[in-house]
Amino acid sequence: MVSTLKAAAAGDQTQQDSPRLKLAVQKSGRLTDPSLDLLSRCGLKLSRGKDQLIGYGENLPLDVLFVRDDDIPDLVQEDVCDLGLVGLNVLTEKSLQLTARGFAPSFRQLRDLDFGRCRLALAAPDSFHYAGPSTLQGRRIATTYPQALQKYLRERGVVADIVTLSGAVEIAPRLGRADLICDLVSTGSTLAANHLRELDTVLESHAVLIQTPKPLVPEKAEWVRRLTLRIDGVQQVRESKYIMLHAPRSALPTIRQLLPGTEAPTILPLEGATDKVAVHAVCRENVFWETLENLKQAGASALLVLPVEKMLR
Ligand code: ATP
Ligand code: ZN
Repeated sequence: MVSTLKAAAAGDQTQQDSPRLKLAVQKSGRLTDPSLDLLSRCGLKLSRGKDQLIGYGENLPLDVLFVRDDDIPDLVQEDVCDLGLVGLNVLTEKSLQLTARGFAPSFRQLRDLDFGRCRLALAAPDSFHYAGPSTLQGRRIATTYPQALQKYLRERGVVADIVTLSGAVEIAPRLGRADLICDLVSTGSTLAANHLRELDTVLESHAVLIQTPKPLVPEKAEWVRRLTLRIDGVQQVRESKYIMLHAPRSALPTIRQLLPGTEAPTILPLEGATDKVAVHAVCRENVFWETLENLKQAGASALLVLPVEKMLR
């Protein structure tokens, strides 16, 4: 698979005049839509035929390779792709695997992203009596993340039988293949549906942006810099709101304290009013109704909350 991708990526490069960044994204799965949404918010317009392996950036020198998420760390480590968007869970497992084989993983982790949140967790049938990690001694634990699980057990001095599966981990206890499981959980509904109870977290995960360990040519490095700045901007505005209000000057100290996640509000004079001012501020947290009610209580009026579309610090 990786060699097919290498050929596709190499073929693409020869058709281009200036160097183009290659970014690996999950082809079809939980990370696909949020990854493409992030790139589109960063201003990338992709032309992509149905089922095509590569999406061409129409307005930026950046092309996207659509692959299985498990292939992304290898593609970036082997310099087939310059960048990748992948779950920390997959990246950690791959790094531990490389280390176990005597290779040094050397991806550069550029950014933590605000999607793909989940945790790798231990879970057992409802009837299993759990009294801490020592209860796991000698048990069979099914997982698709043997390295991460092994590290967790080793750090707790526990020796257990790790049953490595390629999928459908949650049914392993019912099939008699394992006593417990170690699998990805987000809401916990899959566990509940399989009568499994979460016991402990092995790894907290979210999507990350990774970069190849090889040095990039200056044009590519500059586009990575610009892309990461745009990603920072996108992530900052997701929660941010622009708030405007009128307030008596005397209420400003209280109002400043009530504005959530605000560094320095702008205070503007109001035409024809000496004791009142306008306050404009970017709040880096969500503004809830309670906050508005508290601001009003403190003397604010004409309150307006607007979404922030773009931000560059
Ligand atoms: P692929 O065909 O690309 O190998 P997959 O079946 O391994 O797909 P998905 O189930 O789409 O992968 O999950 C992709 C990533 O999404 C996970 O590796 C993880 O980082 C993240 N994720 C977020 N929530 C969950 C969850 N509840 N279960 C599984 N993965 C989750
Ligand atoms: Zn996968």
